[in-house]
Amino acid sequence: GTVVIGGGTGFLGTALSKHLKRRGYEVLIISRKPGPNRMTWSEMLKNGFPENTTAVVNVAGQNILDPTRRWTEGFKQNVWASRVNTTRYMAQVIQEKDVKPSCFVVSSGVGFYPPSNTVEYSEDGPGGDFDFLSRLCKDWEEAAQLPEDLNVRTVQMRTGVVLGREGGMIQQLIVPFFLGLGGPVGSGTQPMPWIHIRDIVGLYTHAIQNASVTGALNGVAPQLITNKEFAQAFGGALWRPSFIPLPSFVVNGMFGSDRAKVMTEGQKVVPTKALETGYEFKYPDIALAAAEFSKIIYTD
Ligand code: NDP
Repeated sequence: GTVVIGGGTGFLGTALSKHLKRRGYEVLIISRKPGPNRMTWSEMLKNGFPENTTAVVNVAGQNILDPTRRWTEGFKQNVWASRVNTTRYMAQVIQEKDVKPSCFVVSSGVGFYPPSNTVEYSEDGPGGDFDFLSRLCKDWEEAAQLPEDLNVRTVQMRTGVVLGREGGMIQQLIVPFFLGLGGPVGSGTQPMPWIHIRDIVGLYTHAIQNASVTGALNGVAPQLITNKEFAQAFGGALWRPSFIPLPSFVVNGMFGSDRAKVMTEGQKVVPTKALETGYEFKYPDIALAAAEFSKIIYTD
């Protein structure tokens, strides 16, 4: 069948498309720009999904940590709308059109949970009500809620920092770390919920294929690490020192304290549901993951 992927042109979306195609699925991407094997959001609202659609996924979202964009009200509005509205549009199409997928799997973030250096969060942990990003996650997850009688299983992936060579944080950090200029953010004692790109792609696929997976799903590796341990693993894999800290005030100044929190604070998030439903992590360990995304000659 076909898997429809909103934001399928991005870092996660590209990796997920490739993976699903290798497993025999057809992929249709929903994008702002028209192209082959793509539909725009307005075309989707008008025409609905292809008849053989088995799953609908949403990984669209304006990049929150784009350093070229100031954290203004307008930009925050973009960050919000690109996630919540796109999810609403997909939910609307599922409800209004005849084609019903078996599941609707959408992205959310670990920013749902309150930062803490001690508390560990399973999917039933509290959150969604204390700052901009947590409220965004709550609205994003609610936008994916469908009436029970539709019989479409919904999964909200509370994703940690996705580590892979082709995008996200590693793409931004590989040059400074390669030059030996990398290091922890602030004290480095804050937890850093993380997941390797192959595992987040694997977990999306697991969520699509397993009827036992429903509701919030923590998209993180089983190993809890701190920001400093991440810096050490990355530097170590590149054979570079990694002790030059990036002071919190610099990060706050660059990004604005609201979104700088993604780096200066963190939460300990545990993949309880993924493990209970039988997902096996390919990169459960940060040293193993770092060895993969730090290879000099990188082939996917
Ligand atoms: P990318 O920035 O690589 O891609 C996201 C896609 O979203 C883009 O390709 C783009 O598609 C679409 N998009 C961007 N801006 C807008 C907009 N203003 N309106 C509508 N669509 C837009 O993101 P990632 O692949 O890294 O992340 C995917 C999702 O996962 C995001 O929602 C993100 O918040 C979430 N996530 C990612 C994490 C990470 O570490 N990467 C961590 C936690 C959550 P197009 O140009 O084709 O329209």
